[in-house]
Amino acid sequence: MPLRALAIDFNSFFASVEQQERPELRGRPVGIVPVLAETTGCIAISIEAKQLGLKRNMRIADARKICPDLRLVEARPETYIHYHRRLVELIESCVHVTQVQSIDEVTCELKGRWAEPARAVVLARQMKEKIQREAGPCLRSSIGIAPNWLLAKVASDMQKPDGLVVLDDADLPGKLLHLAPEDIAGIGPNMQRRLAEHGIATMAQLYAATQAEFRGLWRGIRGEQMWRLLHGENLPPFEQEKDKTIGHGHVLPPQLRNETDALAVLHRLLQKAAMRLRDSGLYAGALHVSVRYRDDTHWGDELRLTETQDTLALTHALNQLWARRPKSHARRAPLQVGIMLTNLLRGEAHTPDLFELPREKTRDRLFSAVDLLNKTFGKNSVYFGGAHGATKYAPMRIAFTRIPKPELEEIDRARARRLKPAKPVADAPTEDQTTGAD
Ligand SMILES: [Mg+2]
Repeated sequence: MPLRALAIDFNSFFASVEQQERPELRGRPVGIVPVLAETTGCIAISIEAKQLGLKRNMRIADARKICPDLRLVEARPETYIHYHRRLVELIESCVHVTQVQSIDEVTCELKGRWAEPARAVVLARQMKEKIQREAGPCLRSSIGIAPNWLLAKVASDMQKPDGLVVLDDADLPGKLLHLAPEDIAGIGPNMQRRLAEHGIATMAQLYAATQAEFRGLWRGIRGEQMWRLLHGENLPPFEQEKDKTIGHGHVLPPQLRNETDALAVLHRLLQKAAMRLRDSGLYAGALHVSVRYRDDTHWGDELRLTETQDTLALTHALNQLWARRPKSHARRAPLQVGIMLTNLLRGEAHTPDLFELPREKTRDRLFSAVDLLNKTFGKNSVYFGGAHGATKYAPMRIAFTRIPKPELEEIDRARARRLKPAKPVADAPTEDQTTGAD
């Protein structure tokens, strides 16, 4: 099969740019920090620092123990963006860039004779040379060449720094067997857990799974696409899930028709939506909040976000939106509240926030742990403070747009069995709405 894709990944990009700009940093362990403070962590480290065993996101104090002469440099986002643009131009002058994956990573399409392995390798060497000549010798890159963009990305991660790896049909899956499933773009912590639940923990096991099994694991067509890509077929990059939203709404029972409780219910709905977001492997680019009042007036507002699946980031966004509500609304009794996560993006298309602080990165693990606790021990075993007092008020509803996943819903089965049905509260609307699609 022809080699249709080339992926290029810049090694230790931020630190390499700093070394290019400041010759006194060259050849030395360098850490890039968001602010110059001992309590922070490095958002990026130089190749030399990696070779000494330092890891990205390590706390400064720990990094200094391993490497006392680590040079800390405060991040200069504009400089990195400037370099990024220049590099994309240089790459484009060699071969067509089909996708900018992130600030230090792009994929290109190989057409015609460039799809022949020997020529593709020549092209990759020329690109590396051109980049070092025109952007600077510190800008080293790892290039992967493969039958499609996904495998090219995998190949670009296989040799660092300054790598050049070709994956051909005959190399599948042999050359990948030393990798783990999570080394594949798009297999994040949630997917990794789902694979493990199905007995897939190694690359060999992943390759042994059938297309139908992939479809089940990914809950849809994306699974088939992943399977076909992993087996070398050339498919276009995954599209963004533009039209999809994840939303929950709730009609408030009479005792909760006040400001404080309405906000608590909104937080609970948000936490539930965030859990579904993570479970679907999606990131949200905007949060919409709405309130309908008893006098039939309505308020709604939206906030654009740096794409996230982080409950705390979403919680802050909700509080911000709530604070933007006109003051006069405080006197009205809220009747129905709703939240909606929109501008959803698949994990594979997600570009990590450039200047995401290390502690936000570790929060991914925290949320995976929280989701797992809630799935294992029943809903709301663990929840965030904003929803306190409102955890009972977002029961499972089945809307025709979505089949709920019981483990993500509000039913604690053991408790449900013990309890008799509650006496309906007079005047309490029973209608509820849940929107969204997986
Ligand atoms: Mg990189």
